[in-house]
Amino acid sequence: MSRPLPGRLVLLGHPVAHSRSPLFQNAALRAAGIPLVYETMDVAPDDLPRALALLREANACGNVTIPHKEAFASRCARLTAIAERCAAANTFWHEQGDLVGDNTDVGGVDAIALALLGPQRNTATVALIGAGGSAAAVLAAAEGWGNARVRLYNRNMDRADSLARRFGSVTSVAPSIGSALDGATLVVNATPVGLRDDAHPVPISELPPGAAVFDLAYRAGETSWVRAARDAGHRAADGEGMLVEQGALSFERWFGVEPDRDAMWRAMR
Ligand code: NDP
Repeated sequence: MSRPLPGRLVLLGHPVAHSRSPLFQNAALRAAGIPLVYETMDVAPDDLPRALALLREANACGNVTIPHKEAFASRCARLTAIAERCAAANTFWHEQGDLVGDNTDVGGVDAIALALLGPQRNTATVALIGAGGSAAAVLAAAEGWGNARVRLYNRNMDRADSLARRFGSVTSVAPSIGSALDGATLVVNATPVGLRDDAHPVPISELPPGAAVFDLAYRAGETSWVRAARDAGHRAADGEGMLVEQGALSFERWFGVEPDRDAMWRAMR
């Protein structure tokens, strides 16, 4: 441990009852011998200011999840460059009482894209479905891949246009899923389609040959889309790896040491 311990370590969200983050964060804390418990804190949007005051008083650090990532970022005294780029924070700590926000979702996307594509990540043609907060993290990651290009499709085209304007150097808006998929080497689902049922965001038969598939959604036993894509010969990963990796990167920010990723994964099983 190279840093003073924070007073509390929390996951702030609404609702957070079914979050899996406490499982692997508490395993990482135990493995590192850090005497803290990763708690969930269920905070309705209207209660965010009150929660932030409590967290400041406790010199807390932690994570932020749906629906607070954007509102939280706007209330930070400082943001890291990547959180600023996303206009969203999923990780925070306090420095001399000041709230600092970071975004490790971007690093989570980076890690999974690298695992799927290897060095070809840097020249990927990405079909990105969805234009919400997690799509912004994918675009912020793709900006760092050198020569990657992203074709963004969203059912609400205005939202796609406004996100593409923020990431114009790597992004163009596709008028249909078909045109987003044309020639894609990586197909990313950043919608909740398939999160609670076996729906597929893109029919398997329409995936370009050889394209890798990255589903940000995750379910026990993987999403149906990821299983079907793999059965059809595509490299595929669901969002579980991104979840654990963003958590591991957050842990490094809080404590200045790498967590035991194997212990984190064992806790998920
Ligand atoms: P947002 O609510 O910010 O955005 C959701 C996006 O999905 C919007 O573009 C929305 O389109 C689109 N959408 C919603 N429902 C449908 C539908 N039925 N058909 C087509 N498009 C739809 O959500 P997030 O970006 O925060 O999350 C998206 C997914 O990513 C979720 O499954 C979430 O669990 C997952 N996620 C995973 C993480 C991980 O660590 N693995 C981290 C963060 C998110 P419209 O604009 O038209 O409403």
